[in-house]
Amino acid sequence: MVFDYVLYNIELLSLKRKTMRLTYKPETLYFKRPFHIAHGTRTSTPIVLTQLEHEGITGFGEASLPPYLSETHETVLSFLKTAVELLSRHRDPFNIEMILNEIDKIAPNNTAAKASVDIALHDLCGKLLNKPCWKIFNCDSSLTPYTTYTLGIDEPDVMKEKAAEGEAYKILKVKLSGENDKSIITAIRSITNKPIAIDVNQGWKDKYQALEMIVWLKDKNILFVEQPMPKDNLEDTLWLFERTALPLFADESVQRYEDIDRVKDCFHGINIKLMKCTGMNEAFKMINKARELKLQLLIGCMSETSCAVSAAAQLSPLADYADLDGPLLIKNNLFDGVQFVNGKITLSDMPGIGVVQKF
Ligand code: MG
Repeated sequence: MVFDYVLYNIELLSLKRKTMRLTYKPETLYFKRPFHIAHGTRTSTPIVLTQLEHEGITGFGEASLPPYLSETHETVLSFLKTAVELLSRHRDPFNIEMILNEIDKIAPNNTAAKASVDIALHDLCGKLLNKPCWKIFNCDSSLTPYTTYTLGIDEPDVMKEKAAEGEAYKILKVKLSGENDKSIITAIRSITNKPIAIDVNQGWKDKYQALEMIVWLKDKNILFVEQPMPKDNLEDTLWLFERTALPLFADESVQRYEDIDRVKDCFHGINIKLMKCTGMNEAFKMINKARELKLQLLIGCMSETSCAVSAAAQLSPLADYADLDGPLLIKNNLFDGVQFVNGKITLSDMPGIGVVQKF
């Protein structure tokens, strides 16, 4: 009887609570230098910023839209229009699992649009609890990895300049495409011997060429090779996996939780990115699954502001490697957030994802 009375009052209380209000704004980020990878060259990248407000507190989120995921300003805005309605029916932001399940069901794909809601929701919940998200996810902030510093593809001399610009960072990430790969690495190695993570972005089309390159790279202080072959060519990737002298990481081949089983036998590790997997909630599940399967973990980003990158950084103590240098490569970072101290990801005690909007 007493229990019924308490339940009745809790229900009344939650009815009194206000619902959530999602707002959003398209923006464009501009690269400091044209960014050239095996997929093509870009000078800018579209993003959409979100804000989720509940009882006077606002969480920030971001969708970054690289061309290969096929999302545009238009598709994200149309998705978020439906999300506004859905969120306006929810009174409890801590109902994270249910809310994000409903968001996921709005449409297939649209993973960056979904991530922009997920990030804003986690930021909001962290602020309501007055706790940083890394604490909510039970992470030890002293265990953050060093971020890699990315060098887009260029002429060997320019690659040397770019490597010199990344002097403060302990690990370089070098993009290769199957053309001039050896001269690029030779040029970088003429000025530094720091560890290099290679990212081929599906650029090696032939398994024999891939194996020959890996043999050549083997003694050059290379940490791993990311996405050597086309994402759906798992047969040749498995062939390479059985012969490779360097660890292989899946990026384009693995987007969401359910993809892990498909790729687990062809790679030593996976690259988890919030924009591919719909955000922090699913990323955390993927991290746990990857650990169970003894896969190594890289937590990465697209070309993003410090908003989405700070969200990914909250989970970085759980990863072996991090590639979270997105904000370093753009001219107009719209947020202050996670810091890199001598390249080490440094998390603050600020609540939520720990960001402040600059403009
Ligand atoms: Mg990659």
